[in-house]
This record gives sequence, C-alpha cells and structure tokens, in this order.
Amino acid sequence: MYQIKPSCSGCHTCELACPMQAINYDGPRYQIDPDKCVSCGLCETLCPTCSIYDPEEKKTVTPHEKIVKECDLVVCGGGTGLISAIKAAQLGLKVIVLEKATRCGGNTDLAHGFFPIYSKLHEEQGIEDVREEAIDVMDERSGGILGKDVLRTAIYGCSDFFDWLLEFPETRKVYAVEPLGDKREAGPIFGPAVTHFIHRIDNTHSLDPSIGPGWAGSYIKKTMLEAIPQQKLDVEILLEHEAKHLITDESGAVTGVIAKDPSGETEIHCKAVVLATGGYGMSDEKLEEYAGFFDVDRPVTRFSVPSDTGDAIDMLQELGVEPNPDRMFVSFFGPAHHPYSYSLYRLIEEPTNLSVDLDGRRWQDETGGLFTGRINIAGHRRECTWNIFTQEEIDQIFHKFQNDPSLEDEKECYMHYQEQLDAECHFKVPATMKAGTIRELAQKLQMDPDVLEKTVNDYNHFCLEQDDEEFHKDPKFLVPKKKGPYYAIYAQRFSEAAFGGLMVNAECQVLRNDGSVIPGLYGVGDATSAMHRKGELAVISELTWAVASAYRSAINAAKEMEAAK
Ligand SMILES: Cc1cc2nc3c(=O)[nH]c(=O)nc-3n(C[C@H](O)[C@H](O)[C@H](O)COP(=O)(O)OP(=O)(O)OC[C@H]3O[C@@H](n4cnc5c(N)ncnc54)[C@H](O)[C@@H]3O)c2cc1C
Repeated sequence: MYQIKPSCSGCHTCELACPMQAINYDGPRYQIDPDKCVSCGLCETLCPTCSIYDPEEKKTVTPHEKIVKECDLVVCGGGTGLISAIKAAQLGLKVIVLEKATRCGGNTDLAHGFFPIYSKLHEEQGIEDVREEAIDVMDERSGGILGKDVLRTAIYGCSDFFDWLLEFPETRKVYAVEPLGDKREAGPIFGPAVTHFIHRIDNTHSLDPSIGPGWAGSYIKKTMLEAIPQQKLDVEILLEHEAKHLITDESGAVTGVIAKDPSGETEIHCKAVVLATGGYGMSDEKLEEYAGFFDVDRPVTRFSVPSDTGDAIDMLQELGVEPNPDRMFVSFFGPAHHPYSYSLYRLIEEPTNLSVDLDGRRWQDETGGLFTGRINIAGHRRECTWNIFTQEEIDQIFHKFQNDPSLEDEKECYMHYQEQLDAECHFKVPATMKAGTIRELAQKLQMDPDVLEKTVNDYNHFCLEQDDEEFHKDPKFLVPKKKGPYYAIYAQRFSEAAFGGLMVNAECQVLRNDGSVIPGLYGVGDATSAMHRKGELAVISELTWAVASAYRSAINAAKEMEAAK
C-alpha cells in the first residue's frame, strides 16, 4: 500500500484527487487509510514533492555505460530552470534540462505568486511605472548590500518575464491587474497595482486557498512544459538526473556537467550551464552549517521539495568557491498555511488573539500576528503555541472577513470556518481544542488549569483597563475572552525554504569569492544569494527573483554565445 513520507508539504493535491477519499489530513500530516486505498497510484503520480511511494514496488535498474551528449546550454534544475530552458530554446539554443527528481516543478510548483511591478497589463490600464522608485526604496531597505544593478535585474527582469508569459495565450485568462492603493514600501508587492492570479489551474475545488499547487508556480511549470512540443523546441528533459560535477576547461570556464542517474553517468558538453538547483531547505548538514540556530531535531515542518539540498553549493565548492553565510537566509514562519485550513491560519493572524505557550503563559504582544518573524515563534520554547478565542469572537471575525470586499476571492473559504474548526478538533493529533470553560480547555491542552486561568483573567483585566501591562498591546486589540465556548488553535513554526549560496552579478553570472566571473556559468533563483541577507527577509519575493533571473540568464547566455561566434 502507498505511504506518505515526512517530506509531504501538505498541499492537499492527493486528498482532492483520490477517487476513494482514502487520504485524510490527520494533524499534523496527511495519511492514507489502508481500508479505503485501492493502490491505484494516482496520488503518487500527482504528488509535487514525490512524497508518496509504494514500499513494495521493486525498481529494476539496468546499469548503462557512460553516456556522452552535447548541447548549447545545460540547465540544472527543472523549477524556474524551465523558464531558462524554454527562453533559450526560443532563441535557437539546443538545451538539456537535468532534473534530479522524478518530475519537474521543485518548490516553484508549490509557490503562490511573483509580482511584476510593471508590465504590459499595467501599461494597458494606464498605471504608473514606479520601477525606478522601487529600486531606490529596496536599495535603501537592504542597506545597499544587494546592489542597485542586481535589484534592477530582479525588477525589470520580472517585468520582461511577465510580458513574455503574456505571449502564452492562457496567461491573460489567469492574470489580472488589481489596484493596490499605492503601496510604496519595500516588500514583495510594491506600487499602485498588483498582478493577481485569478484562476487556479489545479486544486480548484479546495476550500483552502493556501499556497500549494495550482497557483502561479504551477502555471509556469505547466506552460513551460507544454511549450516544448507546441513550439517544437529543442529541449530534452532528463528526469532523475542529478547534476554532480561541473566540467571546466584550462581557463576555468564551465564547459559541461556530469550527471548521475539511477543506472549510471551522463557527461554533457556545452557552451554554458545554468544552475537552477534551488535552495538547501532539505539538507540538514547545510542548515546546521549556514543557519547555526537551526536544530534539525526539533519539530520543524519543512516545505521544500526533498531534492532541494543545495547541490549548487557542492558543485561550486569543488571549484574552490565558498558560499558567503552572510548572504544566506532560512525562512521561519509560523504558523504554516498548510497544516491548517486557510481560514484558521487567518484567524491566528488576528491581533485580538491571546497566544499562550505550552505552559499556558502569554509570551508576546500578539499584534503582529505570528507571521514573518515579526513575532518570533521560532525563538519560543518548542516553537509551539496555542491561540485562544471565544466562539463569539470567531463569529465576529469571520463575519467581517465575509463582508470585506478586498477579501472577495478568499470569501469561499471563510464561509466554512465552523466546519473547519470542528474538523480540526477531531484530528488524531487535534490542531484545535474546544471547551466550555478555561479550566476544561487547560486540561485538554495538558496545562495547569490554575496557570491558564490566571493568564486569561489577567488578560481580561488588561482589556477592561485598556492597558496591557505585560506586553503593551495596542488597546484597540484588547478583546476579552469572557464567555465560552473557547477554542485553542495550535501554531507551530515552519520553515518554507533555505536560500542562497551562489553570488551572482546583474547578468546572473556566477562569481568567484574574489568577485571575478566564472565564464559559462549562470545562477538562478533560490540557489543564489542575490536577494538574501542573513536574518532578513528578501525585499523582493523569492519567486519574483527566481523568474527574473531564470529569464535573464537564458537571454544573457544566448547573447554570450552569439558574441563568441
Ligand atoms: C511551500 C512553498 C511556498 C512558496 N510560496 C512562495 C510564494 O508564494 N511567493 C514567492 O515568491 N516564493 C514562494 N516560495 C519560494 C519559491 O517557491 C522559490 O523561491 C522558487 O520556486 C525557487 O525556484 P528555483 O527554480 O530556484 O528552485 P526550485 O523550484 O526548488 O527548483 C529547483 C529544482 O532543481 C532540482 N534539483 C536540485 N538539485 C539538483 C541537481 N543536483 N541536479 C538536477 N536537478 C536538481 C530540484 O529537484 C528542483 O526541481 C515558496 C516556497 C515553498 C516551499
């Protein structure tokens, strides 16, 4: 019978596809019900993280002699690397994509959105072009460390990529530009409007619009893969081929790649290589080395695909190039979108939340929500919290969400909040606890009832006085927890991915430690340090950089080859 590995990202694809309804989310992971599963294998073919397998399946491997191939461009990694491959092939290059996993997609397939600040869609609607302003703001925000030239590549590169994506006929059906109310602070979204993904291509029946297959990343993967036969492009994709070593000539220029597949080795000679092997979110060794605070034995949910083990770093180290730990970043958010229905995730983000630790003590001003490190759930004991609300308060919050025009596209999931609360109370490891009194709630949470009762009484007193003596929360968010039923909703930290390793310049060429260019080598997306600084969120969303760098590296590689003729 099929089983689900811990690398499951909780994206819901298998649950929604299973014809036998044999896959259920039973906190904190999906599980397959042996009584219902008919071993049809559909879930295994769909899982974007290759986490579903049949332990009884015997794979026969017939060893092969070393295979030697030739092409213009080798792209290592089939996430946003597919963009490099398709664009390069459109420019006339013969391309080979090496993908370590059994299918393409990488973290890209799990990602929700990228954000061009300006595009043809903006232009058509007469929206102001604020890209130069964005570069200035982001440069300032990043203390000049990223460099204006690389920021320019990210911002203009994303626009160019998106304009190119608009040439694929489906794109105008899945994207629209929406006014934003002129947001001009550095962050993933900037400017008077945002491109909004309006139509999921997968998973459309889910009540949970959390990040996962179906959004922009999946759309990119699908569009790129379809373009190969449609446009008769010279792109060969070799699955289960792990790029292992870079081949260099006597001048140090990269001239090929050696890849391992389950049956042997393939040596590819080429004019340039794009490293798009993703981050190192699934390498315990690298996390320990480059993010010293990361304790791999702790209960941290990680969402990277299992194949993202920072292989580009290994390949560069063989060439004597070390990554700069100050330009690497590990994301710790909390709570995850995934282990919760989206509506409960949004609930925990509400500033009226009363958040307690596993002992039942309040531990922070809850105003910032638990997201994005503003409140550092990662720094807290066992990285787990319970977040307390009353039924009355929950009803009010969801009523507000349901009537908020800016949340129109999420409305559907807020209609079902009560079902989701009830469902989560019944997980084998419940993610939500319900009780009539605070003492009863404490017992269910295995806390000392006296401690939790005191916490809630103190909090209610602060609400009454409109003065949070303990953490100084803004009085407007001080809402008492007076009347049951009470709910406690669990939140745990999670790590989305780990970014960085290769230093690149504005042309996306990979640099040695002395700043010189390694000829013939380009770096893309999470494998690069372009947008990252230790302990700081990127000023531009990761996928935005990944699509921009993937697109630009193809153009730059083609230009370089043309110039060398
Ligand atoms: C759950 C989740 C949600 C996210 N949501 C967002 C979001 O909404 N917005 C956003 O901006 N960012 C988001 N991100 C981050 C975003 O997904 C990444 O920044 C982006 O996808 C990186 O693209 P990439 O091509 O660099 O890496 P990936 O898409 O991970 O691709 C790397 C590929 O390389 C392959 N590979 C690895 N090693 C080798 C090797 N040695 N040889 C050959 N192939 C190899 C891998 O199998 C993989 O297919 C999210 C990430 C996760 C995990």
